[in-house]
Amino acid sequence: MLSNQEMDNVILEESKYVINTYGRVPAVLVKGDGMNVYDINGNSYVDFLSGISVNNVGHCHPKIVETIKKQAETLIHVSNIYYNIPQVNLAKKLVNISGLDKAFFCNSGAEANEAAIKLSRKYSKAFGKEGEIITMEHAFHGRTLTTITATPKPKYQEGYDPLPTGFKHVPFNDIEKLKESISNKTAAIMIEPVQGEGGIHIADQEYLKAVRELCDDKNIVLIFDEVQCGLGRTGKMFAFEHYGVKPDIITLAKALGSGIPIGAMIAKDEVSNAFTPGSHGTTFGGNPLACATAITSINLISELLNNTNEMGVYFTDKLKKIEEKYDFVREVRSIGLMTGLELSFNGSNIVQEMFKQGYLINCTSDTVLRFLPPLIIQKEHIDGMVSSLDDVFSKI
Ligand SMILES: *Cc1c(COP(=O)(O)O)cnc(C)c1O
Repeated sequence: MLSNQEMDNVILEESKYVINTYGRVPAVLVKGDGMNVYDINGNSYVDFLSGISVNNVGHCHPKIVETIKKQAETLIHVSNIYYNIPQVNLAKKLVNISGLDKAFFCNSGAEANEAAIKLSRKYSKAFGKEGEIITMEHAFHGRTLTTITATPKPKYQEGYDPLPTGFKHVPFNDIEKLKESISNKTAAIMIEPVQGEGGIHIADQEYLKAVRELCDDKNIVLIFDEVQCGLGRTGKMFAFEHYGVKPDIITLAKALGSGIPIGAMIAKDEVSNAFTPGSHGTTFGGNPLACATAITSINLISELLNNTNEMGVYFTDKLKKIEEKYDFVREVRSIGLMTGLELSFNGSNIVQEMFKQGYLINCTSDTVLRFLPPLIIQKEHIDGMVSSLDDVFSKI
């Protein structure tokens, strides 16, 4: 077993050589296996965060590892100047499962949203619109200049002005405010059906239906950012399936490559036809390694949907009991295995205490404990985590 000194050394060198953009938990992780990760000192942790809903099929799934090995030995990258088979196969799969028409590949969630913003602006110019995009309060769409502008959080925007123009924000789940804010400039409305970073806020059924009708009426492109809530997280492949509402564009990333970076934008033909050769592009986007891995990810996720629903219900029931027991728990919000527990105070100490107990959880929007476990989770993991949480809460 390695000593603490080696861990201290990694942390020291990180502070010396890596630009300081993250406040990290003091754990140097060296290995992962299914539900567990291991640190440099040999401690194991049960992962209730999945690298922020990336490791949906668990860590180092044998089929993911096998796919990566096989594709790495065959062809890793060729650029988009040529055709490659995994890219076409992945596009076909995404089109089949989403009911939309065509896919574009990039390397992250922010890039997928950039593509969606660019596409919807280009498409709507033909109708004389001025490219305005409406997004929601508490949304999160990424960290590029344009996507921080789409993300109405001062902390993410401060110091980066001048920001791109043409963005407006309205309260989430409020159809009247949305109606008031649209004009003949409005090109697109962008929504996370379940807000992740914002604190696990779930769109109302009637709301998304009304938004769809509004978009149809006014010829506005409806973009669903499913970077976090998509790909099995909510118990369906896509969160929009819970609503019976189909967007014109959907964006994906996080769980798509099970850790190999890949993002995707899937769109209806009518909209995607606004892009022609030269309109948009990226060097790495849709490379064979990432696409082959994504095909395996999707296949595995589709086999885990039943477990996600069963375990989601089991987990939520247990957390509701915790909610009843402690006054400082304001609310439990959950859909599938996308779960938030809102506290009446900042949750970062709870995250630290849970870490000491061997559980990786996270706190978002200051007060919301966020649980995004791998979809392979079993009752025993939930029982263990909830009992540790109960323990930690009982000492407050
Ligand atoms: C994480 C996230 C993004 C940004 O994805 P990156 O891969 O970090 O660029 C965008 N939208 C949502 C909803 C996310 O959760």
